[in-house]
Amino acid sequence: MNDLGFFTSLEDEPQIQYLRDSLYEEFQVEVAIKREDQIDTYVSGNKFRKLKYNVLEAAKQQHDTLLTFGGAYSNHIAAVAKAGSRSGFKTIGVIRGEELAQNLRQTLQHNPTLRFAKDYGMQFKFVSRETYREKLQPKFLQQLKDEFGTFYLIPEGGTNTLAVQGCTEILSEATQDFDYIACPVGTGGTIGGIIDGSFPHQKILGFPALKGDFLNAEIKKYTDKTNWELVNAYHFGGYAKVNQDLVTFINDFKKKHDILLDPVYTGKMMFGLRDLIRNEFFSKNTRILAVHTGGLQGIAGMNQKLLKKGFPLIRM
Ligand SMILES: *Cc1c(COP(=O)(O)O)cnc(C)c1O
Repeated sequence: MNDLGFFTSLEDEPQIQYLRDSLYEEFQVEVAIKREDQIDTYVSGNKFRKLKYNVLEAAKQQHDTLLTFGGAYSNHIAAVAKAGSRSGFKTIGVIRGEELAQNLRQTLQHNPTLRFAKDYGMQFKFVSRETYREKLQPKFLQQLKDEFGTFYLIPEGGTNTLAVQGCTEILSEATQDFDYIACPVGTGGTIGGIIDGSFPHQKILGFPALKGDFLNAEIKKYTDKTNWELVNAYHFGGYAKVNQDLVTFINDFKKKHDILLDPVYTGKMMFGLRDLIRNEFFSKNTRILAVHTGGLQGIAGMNQKLLKKGFPLIRM
């Protein structure tokens, strides 16, 4: 039996928290942050929004299994595992990296994301990078059906039209007085929904967490509106790449505001936002709302990498 209450009974909209900072005062802008990260520690922020209508649809179609794809530290994998378990679905994660299967015990010991997903009952299929690239080919999908039976397929990163629909709900009457809405961008589904849910007087600023020019085209698939722009200068070299400046920024932000940012998405966005403010990108009295999309489950895994490099760690 499916229990969809996890998704249908979000009682309180996440809080909008105003930030005090001498820089914001100096440049006379107002900055607030919408705490989507507080929805759930693992089905956090935008992943809750993206999964909501997909899970409802899977139940409607009477599926008992959700299958999805992701990297070994993926927020999406962690979110699907817990969301599935809470809503009464079996979950299967097709994970990039064949080598991870060779010593699964060791993999789970070292990888907090996969360990978490497994604890919530997710079954894994580890595939080579080559196969992973071809994961939507009919032949591979048929192979998955032969192996696991029928399933409801949620794409990598969870982005599809139902996900975009869910993300429109990040904005509401409570956010209509903001001039700018800032959000991080991975596959573009979240910003697509935010753009769709925005008012014409608002401008949406996306901060891609990865390099590449394909995102503009991707986002246009999900919305016809044009009140948005991508700021491409703050990906720090690519997806999940970090440097010491970013880690220091995240730790300072936590100290100053008591809000933890993740290093892959929200840390880069808030770093970029600060830089734009300093460079007078915004006119005086602009009201900016940044969306904290969550992702905090990834910090433990990132800290292991930072430790190996001899970098400072993200303090939780
Ligand atoms: C997945 C994720 C994103 C990216 O969302 P897209 O819809 O893929 O653009 C942003 N922030 C966090 C914390 C995420 O986990």
